[in-house]
Amino acid sequence: MQYLSTRGGITPISFTKAVMMGLANDGGLLLPRTIPRIGSETFNSWQKLSYGDLAFEVMSRFIDDIPSSDLKDIIKRSYATFDVECVAPLVHKGGLHILELFHGPTLAFKDVALQFLGNLFEYLLAKNQSVLNILGATSGDTGSAAIYGVRGKERINIFILHPHHRVSAVQEKQMTTVLDNNVFNIAFRGSFDDGQTIIKKIFGDIEFKKTYNLGAINSINWARVLAQVVYYVHSCLHVAMHEKDSSVDFAIPTGNFGDIFAGFIAKKILPAGTIRQLILATNDNDILSRFVNHGDYSLGEVKTTSSPSMDIGTASNFERYLYYLMDSDAIRTRELMEEFARNGKIDLAGYQDQIRRDFVATSVSEETVLETIRSFYKEHDYVLDPHTAIGVKAAQQFRTGGVPMICLATAHPAKFATVVEDAIGIPPSVPDCLVGIIDKPARCELMDAELQKIKEFVAKNALQQ
Ligand SMILES: *Cc1c(COP(=O)(O)O)cnc(C)c1O
Repeated sequence: MQYLSTRGGITPISFTKAVMMGLANDGGLLLPRTIPRIGSETFNSWQKLSYGDLAFEVMSRFIDDIPSSDLKDIIKRSYATFDVECVAPLVHKGGLHILELFHGPTLAFKDVALQFLGNLFEYLLAKNQSVLNILGATSGDTGSAAIYGVRGKERINIFILHPHHRVSAVQEKQMTTVLDNNVFNIAFRGSFDDGQTIIKKIFGDIEFKKTYNLGAINSINWARVLAQVVYYVHSCLHVAMHEKDSSVDFAIPTGNFGDIFAGFIAKKILPAGTIRQLILATNDNDILSRFVNHGDYSLGEVKTTSSPSMDIGTASNFERYLYYLMDSDAIRTRELMEEFARNGKIDLAGYQDQIRRDFVATSVSEETVLETIRSFYKEHDYVLDPHTAIGVKAAQQFRTGGVPMICLATAHPAKFATVVEDAIGIPPSVPDCLVGIIDKPARCELMDAELQKIKEFVAKNALQQ
């Protein structure tokens, strides 16, 4: 399988090259040249596979340059860190199927992709005899999932910047209590945006980036999307088994369009009609629901909400869908993305018919998030985290007939304990991995948000080729 850029500016490359490239060199995003299709017979034959075996079946259709036994081993190690054997269990509540994606080491769905990506990086670096220094800024969740993805790995160091005292105490400790030698936490005095700006400047210094083999951890890596396709297929198989129904709907809380784009790919590879509807749910940062409902893809002011992992201005994976919307026309995609960069908006109202065949969408207000957590607990005795509540609300709104509805539960409620307690009056139960975390020994460098100082720190601690 070869990979190409949404902007058409690179010659096709292999899967492993695409993983190491991350963002395409022409500024676009990488996509497989063709989308494989799974026939009904094959799909039905997968019903009894374990999560890992199914992951191999799905992924190997997109990966042809890693030997099967190696890929199986990478997958096996990646999901051994989850606290349930089936990795992504389904819980039946309130007439919905809640797909719990938070059983990994940091209690958020990002573990599903980042546990895999960490092992994949380690494997590829050993093969190429090279090293990688991962650098990123986080407003909370992504940092810990990335750190847990690569902790203790050979040939990788990771540097994660977070704004000092502006992430929750638990989020901070989830990052800083990881004491492996290859993990460097930097708390800087400033806002998340200050950190983002510094990261962008460091990556903009091409000389520095090359000298220190810098790599990013953002959600645009194709391997992350691919790992997420698996749980769509897995949950379709399991719900179909119970309901003897051929179609399912999915409700997906969305920020950067990563998770829902994986659903879009799953819909394309599975037999027609297996996935009927993809419901896109945003918080008050509603660029994506405005896009689906009105064809209006335009920047708004970024608001702080109780679902911070979805507080985004633009959606970094959106360009992948745009490419398909433009019928795989890379030139048109590039023009539109350049127009967006110039004007902060593009008008896609002319594509409404197609967009609405692919998605339905809604945005959920802060008040409704709390109300949904409260009522779902009261009526069904199940505690939703604020992100999951947004998907559940959307699911209740768009549910029709007897089509089973799968809601993606993207974080454990204990990660957002304050909001949850506000809603239901009691704190959510604390999973073992968070018990006592506040008092555990931590390691973190406190620094001013100064570009030069942070660069020096990275240079001093970076792995050398
Ligand atoms: C990152 C995240 C999301 C949004 O996922 P996208 O891939 O950006 O759409 C939703 N919920 C939680 C808990 C997250 O951490």
